[in-house]
Amino acid sequence: MDAEIIAVGSELLLGQIVNTNGRFLSQQFAEMGINVYYHTVVGDNDKRLQDAVDIAKKRADLIVFTGGLGPTKDDMTKETISRMLGKELVFDQEALQSIEAYFTKSNRVMTENNKKQALVLEGSDILANDHGMAPGMVLTVENITYMLLPGPPSEMEPMFLKYGYQTLMKMMDKHERIESKVLRFFGIGEAKLETVIEDLIEKQSNPTIAPLAGDGEVTLRITAKHETKEKCEEMIAAAEKEILSRVGQFHYGNNQTSLIKELVKELTVRKLTIAGAESLTGGMFQEQLTTIPGAGKVFKGGIVSYTNDAKSNVLNVKNKTIEQFGVVSEECAIEMAENVSTQFDADIGISFTGVAGPDTQEGKPVGTIFIGIAFRNGKSLAKKLSLSGSRSQNRVRSVKYGCHFLLQ
Ligand code: ATP
Ligand code: MG
Repeated sequence: MDAEIIAVGSELLLGQIVNTNGRFLSQQFAEMGINVYYHTVVGDNDKRLQDAVDIAKKRADLIVFTGGLGPTKDDMTKETISRMLGKELVFDQEALQSIEAYFTKSNRVMTENNKKQALVLEGSDILANDHGMAPGMVLTVENITYMLLPGPPSEMEPMFLKYGYQTLMKMMDKHERIESKVLRFFGIGEAKLETVIEDLIEKQSNPTIAPLAGDGEVTLRITAKHETKEKCEEMIAAAEKEILSRVGQFHYGNNQTSLIKELVKELTVRKLTIAGAESLTGGMFQEQLTTIPGAGKVFKGGIVSYTNDAKSNVLNVKNKTIEQFGVVSEECAIEMAENVSTQFDADIGISFTGVAGPDTQEGKPVGTIFIGIAFRNGKSLAKKLSLSGSRSQNRVRSVKYGCHFLLQ
């Protein structure tokens, strides 16, 4: 089954709301084994909606609409489809009763135009609206199935899950499933990763392997299609094994995880605490740590020491170190990490100092960054990065490198 989702609503085109209905339905269809090849967004305009339907009819056998089922003038989805398919709009008694009941329950007076919401396409299967008034409907005409759903996600999502899902599942003769798994990598560029697994990407059609890059990380999505979930998982596992045999050293986690989440997990397992001293990252590392539930068990606190004065006065970095090596140096990074771990009595101290840009500092080029790490009763070390991003990318990536550094 090939589907097209048509989201109707001028607010979507004006950027006032995000098309979360499109996302929700696409996720559902992916799980159900329905291919979604197009998303269309169209305003509350009869002519343009008609054009969109005409196009969709040529390339989909399931067209799903969201929005425009309400009582007001701009809600015209039903009317347009009714005219296009030559199907009358008729009152659905059950829907009418439930609309009346809805008004009684909420102590409001029902206006005449609210009745309009009980109008349905003749011959359609009705999807009850348990959280609002306008019912949804499903109708097949000339081998194309039309599913009309309300706009508000609070109505559409439960309606689809409770009624729409089964209706479609029953209609499909094969229950192909789609499963996917995302592998996350750090420390390898997208181009490099792609080269290493190019043959796999090219030769595979099931499962497919798709690389995605963002913020210094690369992810690979493996997607398998089969009738059973187990077989999909088996196919994914085989592809994963092959990929990891080539680039396993850069792999740090799967699916929804992140470097910072993995760090919190690792510190928790090892029962270690951490403190941070940040210059160019301005507290970003600590801020990110604290977004993870459970960070309280591992994160003690830290210091944002942005100026040289702050580094020496608050963090006790020796003046001699700053004079001799500068603040963008391995020596300064190590002292920052050591001192913050002592001040906060943490097992690990981590520090970030460097040149985010756009200007150079101490004659050192933009992107020169030192990450210091100090272990309680252990040796301290620093890692030098030479990043080539913008100021903001350099800061974000420094934090990621810091996490990755600790995870190794
Ligand atoms: P109502 O009976 O509330 O008028 P409706 O079916 O006529 O519902 P619309 O009028 O098109 O739907 O949209 C109502 C509201 O639903 C919008 O203001 C918006 O908040 C939400 N909505 C509509 N379409 C979408 C969408 N594609 N994604 C997310 N939210 C949406
Ligand atoms: Mg409306």
